[in-house]
Amino acid sequence: MQYRPALNKMKPYVPGEQPPPGKFIKLNTNENPYPPPAEVVKAIQSAATGPINRYPDPMATSFRRAAADALGLPGPEWVLAGNGSDEILTLLVRGFVGEGESLRLPYPSYILYRTLADIQGANWEQVPFDEPWELPQAFGQSRDDLKLVLLPNPNSPSGTVVPKQQISELAESLDCPLVVDEAYADFAEDNCLDLVQSNERILVTRTLSKSYGLAGIRFGFLVAQPHIVAELTKIKDSYNCDAISIAAATAAMGCQDWLSDVVEKMNATRQRMADRLSAMGFAVTPSHANFVWCQHPEGKHAEIHQYLKQSQILIRYMDFPDWGDGLRISVGTDEQIDACLLMMERAMQSLNMPLPA
Ligand SMILES: *Cc1c(COP(=O)(O)O)cnc(C)c1O
Repeated sequence: MQYRPALNKMKPYVPGEQPPPGKFIKLNTNENPYPPPAEVVKAIQSAATGPINRYPDPMATSFRRAAADALGLPGPEWVLAGNGSDEILTLLVRGFVGEGESLRLPYPSYILYRTLADIQGANWEQVPFDEPWELPQAFGQSRDDLKLVLLPNPNSPSGTVVPKQQISELAESLDCPLVVDEAYADFAEDNCLDLVQSNERILVTRTLSKSYGLAGIRFGFLVAQPHIVAELTKIKDSYNCDAISIAAATAAMGCQDWLSDVVEKMNATRQRMADRLSAMGFAVTPSHANFVWCQHPEGKHAEIHQYLKQSQILIRYMDFPDWGDGLRISVGTDEQIDACLLMMERAMQSLNMPLPA
């Protein structure tokens, strides 16, 4: 079979493991351990019994209004809805990066960006973070063939943030758009939404998969200046979001009090988890997201991951070539995290790793 050469060359993106529900304590893909608010479930039920024989609103207008209200944006025309923020990222790469052109990402970060470049037949350039997770000068250098720069903020797997002032300076020094992927921004102290209004080259992506507990419905969105939203609308599928997910996402935007409560609860669990991992001898990167990145001086991360998996606890083992490996553990409920930490201690015992008394 003859495919495009770009396809023959590319390696597939491998998402985190999704086992059948119930079997594992699942701390590997940064989902919310808590169910979404009751209003959202009600909205899903009512959409499912609604006119489902009809196509949905192609622009998800109800959602865009609700998002603009909740986030204090000038209006719905600043929002583009997508089938997960992964679709928004696809549209951005498709819209800005042509065959043979380049996009830039930091390293280690979200590997999907590379896959999106590969699909386009475009090049990707990885700029390694300086220690401790700071962006080097090179990340802001413009170049003729560079058409898009992507920065997860907070970053994954580190959970670290690049300060807003620096993002603003980056956008000034680049002459292509800078995508700030704010998948985890609800867990952080600050975000870049207001920068979008002062600089057309700053584009913010958000998702309902993490903080809102809605990974199963697939909904994300872009916040950008209206002319950019209009242009990208030309290349999206006409009905990229379905009626049920639009109803759920619209209701979710009205649940800002629920959101702050759940974020407060999860951030408290994150702190407990980080403290205990440090006490167990791990180097823990201070996180502003709903996961924690940790590394043990003795390594054995793959072995610990495997031990936990056999005990029905899934965390993420990540190995970044030329950089190093470690464990990324999503914030679960307190009970889930206690079970995970207990099993990690057992793993360390069985691997003859030192454990503080
Ligand atoms: C989870 C994640 C996304 C994807 O979110 P979806 O809306 O579920 O597609 C995007 N970017 C980063 C950095 C993520 O971790």
